[in-house]
Amino acid sequence: MIHDNILDLKRRVNSVCSSVSVEPCNITIVAVSKNRSVDEIRQVIEAGINDIGENRVQEALLKYRILKNITSIRWHMVGHLQTNKVKDAVEIFDLIHSVDSLHLAEEINRRAERINKIQRVLIEVKTSPELTKFGIEPGKLHEFIKELVKFKNLEVKGLMTIAPSFAEAEKTRPFFRILRELKEVFNQERELPFKLEILSMGMSNDFEIALQEGANMLRIGRAIFEGE
Ligand SMILES: *Cc1c(COP(=O)(O)O)cnc(C)c1O
Repeated sequence: MIHDNILDLKRRVNSVCSSVSVEPCNITIVAVSKNRSVDEIRQVIEAGINDIGENRVQEALLKYRILKNITSIRWHMVGHLQTNKVKDAVEIFDLIHSVDSLHLAEEINRRAERINKIQRVLIEVKTSPELTKFGIEPGKLHEFIKELVKFKNLEVKGLMTIAPSFAEAEKTRPFFRILRELKEVFNQERELPFKLEILSMGMSNDFEIALQEGANMLRIGRAIFEGE
């Protein structure tokens, strides 16, 4: 079933790509496996997805220990990261999607330095005014990125956002558009030493809209594990 869900998902991704002429369709699908079993993750790998996302470090660690022989897996931290979990996070994750404070960035840098790692990260941006969401406010992103430049063991790869959920997916479009525009504006700045490449946006409900707005990394749970 997971295998079929992934085929369906890829078909839908490809069809959006060709309709908005994103060619070749260079989209990374991260299978978000929180609350799913190790066996389900194995099925995802067998179906050809090697990017696995978790939202809690403890749970990720347990799964990582069981699956670490499968070296093709790239582990993604997609949930809010607490500073006291950074030590473990830096050991297992290839990409941390949720950098949302200077304090957290500093701690990731410190822990990465200790194990001689350059930690790849995304900055989580709060594109909607909902109070419960984490993330840097769009108006503060520029300053924030400039601060991150001084951390030698961080590599800022791009931006991430979570859109509010709506019954009608179309309503998520403005939030994804904000993220794409931030990336474009930032990448026109000459004095900054790197480019933002990744836009991590779009989940099971709204990934088609996110793709139309320029997402190149999707975080998908239910559509893979439940076929919804
Ligand atoms: C759970 C989760 C997802 C996947 O959500 P689905 O609706 O199951 O596709 C994506 N991003 C984050 C941050 C999540 O916590």
